[in-house]
Amino acid sequence: MKTVVKTNHRREMIDVTGQLRKAVAEAGIQEGIVLAFVPHTTAGITINENADSDVQRDLLAHLERLVPPGGQYRHVEGNSDAHIQASLLGSSVHLIVTEGRLALGTWQSVFFCEFDGPRSRSLWIETMARD
Ligand code: ZN
Repeated sequence: MKTVVKTNHRREMIDVTGQLRKAVAEAGIQEGIVLAFVPHTTAGITINENADSDVQRDLLAHLERLVPPGGQYRHVEGNSDAHIQASLLGSSVHLIVTEGRLALGTWQSVFFCEFDGPRSRSLWIETMARD
């Protein structure tokens, strides 16, 4: 399933857990795996806390300190910070589906991580039943 994620800022984290839940429900699987893949080089995906949004702010701020915009990069597009931050988080996550539901920890959500927005982005979701 190919879904769209619209981002509104150059850098932001968008909770896409609902899109994964919808994909699992539509697939009708009870036990299995769901894979979410980001087909971009300046966006990533991660699992982290959904309760205190300061965690998202801290994560983005720390990544920016670690890999600042305007640093000494060679890439002519000028968005090397976004490429590097995307690689630090990665392009995919896998989740366990059990009893028809995503098995996430209490405070966990899945976040699409934009590093070079705003843009219309893609998020590809695949479900796999155990049998
Ligand atoms: Zn680039």
